[in-house]
Amino acid sequence: MQDVVIIGSGLVGSAMAIALARGGLRVALIDAASQNARLESAYDGRTAAIAYGSRCVLEALEVWPDIAHAEPIDDIRVCDQDTGAYVHYHYKDAGEEPFGHIIENRHLRQALYGQLARYDAITLHAPAKVTAVNNDGALAQVTLDNGTQLKAPLLLVADGKMSATRDMLGIKANISEYGQTAIVCTIAHSAPHHGLAVERFLPAGPFALLPMSEQRTNIVWTERDAVAQRMLQLDETALLQEIRKRAGEHLGELSLAGPRFAYPLKLIRAERSIAPRAALIGDAAHAIHPIAGQGVNLGYRDVAAIAELILARARLGLDIGADALLNDYARWRRFDVASMAAATHGLNLLFSNDILPLRLLRDAGLNGVNQVMPLKQFFMRHAMGMVGDLPTLMQKEAS
Ligand SMILES: Cc1cc2nc3c(=O)[nH]c(=O)nc-3n(C[C@H](O)[C@H](O)[C@H](O)COP(=O)(O)OP(=O)(O)OC[C@H]3O[C@@H](n4cnc5c(N)ncnc54)[C@H](O)[C@@H]3O)c2cc1C
Repeated sequence: MQDVVIIGSGLVGSAMAIALARGGLRVALIDAASQNARLESAYDGRTAAIAYGSRCVLEALEVWPDIAHAEPIDDIRVCDQDTGAYVHYHYKDAGEEPFGHIIENRHLRQALYGQLARYDAITLHAPAKVTAVNNDGALAQVTLDNGTQLKAPLLLVADGKMSATRDMLGIKANISEYGQTAIVCTIAHSAPHHGLAVERFLPAGPFALLPMSEQRTNIVWTERDAVAQRMLQLDETALLQEIRKRAGEHLGELSLAGPRFAYPLKLIRAERSIAPRAALIGDAAHAIHPIAGQGVNLGYRDVAAIAELILARARLGLDIGADALLNDYARWRRFDVASMAAATHGLNLLFSNDILPLRLLRDAGLNGVNQVMPLKQFFMRHAMGMVGDLPTLMQKEAS
């Protein structure tokens, strides 16, 4: 029998399985899709801005060295397109390490799957769908569509923002529709990006340029839903013209380096992150606006926190699905999740509009932060995921 069943083998669930297997636990990992399907380039066109704190987790799990093409972010420039107000961060203002790295989601998945395969203690069930969950007894029980039944003292739910398991556990989710869609694509360019990540605030939403390897940049371009649909239909020349209008001239000649993807945006927060013998992690617990590139970073902080609690109890031979552990997890993660959800939601409301008093307020804010070094350093430490009560996996010395 396994010690833990994890539903969802995405960026978060896979890291969770590795963290527990390294601590000597036996894990059953379930995903509705096969690993090969999830490594296809058409599956996910996104990159993730992996903050310094998440890199510490991936290093501790020995996933980091296997990641292909992690491009360091040395500079960040955030600006209001209309008024020119801006704030500029250079990593040296915060310390010796880059703020983070831009990594293609499929490359991160590939490195995670490579590690998963090294552990005999991890049994992968994929493709397999969960048809029923029972968490009433001394063990949680999961039934798969191929008839397999799995039992364990603890169930971890990592099946993403539309989590079906969350519903099966009777946990409601609050959903706010942004009416925005993120258009995601990769461009190649003739001029180097110098490790500069740019976020331009436009009335319809943020337009981000994320530096990738091989002189490429990932675009995350937020538009109102209807406009996004029109932009997605444009031919390559017209689309590149729209991108150039928003990106500026600093990257030289542009060309598309892959397909375009559309991600409708919603804020989804589970009303509770725990149920008897079960905890939600990653997007299943909280899916936030990508305005600050923090979704998976928040998920890795869930992983680091709950892994620490589980392994501490397992070492003492205590029940790892006990209410005491679940309550500690919910308490530990509450503030970080609530403040990140509120900050990203608020930033989107503040910046994605053309209302004059709000424009004045945000410009005063950007200029103010840019001129006050301690304030800048405060925001840089947040962007790097290095504030608050950090789990051991996120502390460099632990790796
Ligand atoms: C446009 C955009 C840009 C983003 N950029 C960033 C960024 O720069 N930095 C950052 O930190 N975050 C970013 N994010 C957020 C990030 O992508 C998510 O937070 C992250 O993918 C969540 O990972 P997850 O493992 O929780 O969920 P997912 O990646 O959704 O994985 C869920 C897994 O569960 C499986 N599954 C689903 N249903 C079932 C089921 N019923 N049974 C079994 N398995 C199931 C799926 O096949 C999948 O493998 C961005 C998001 C968007 C939309």
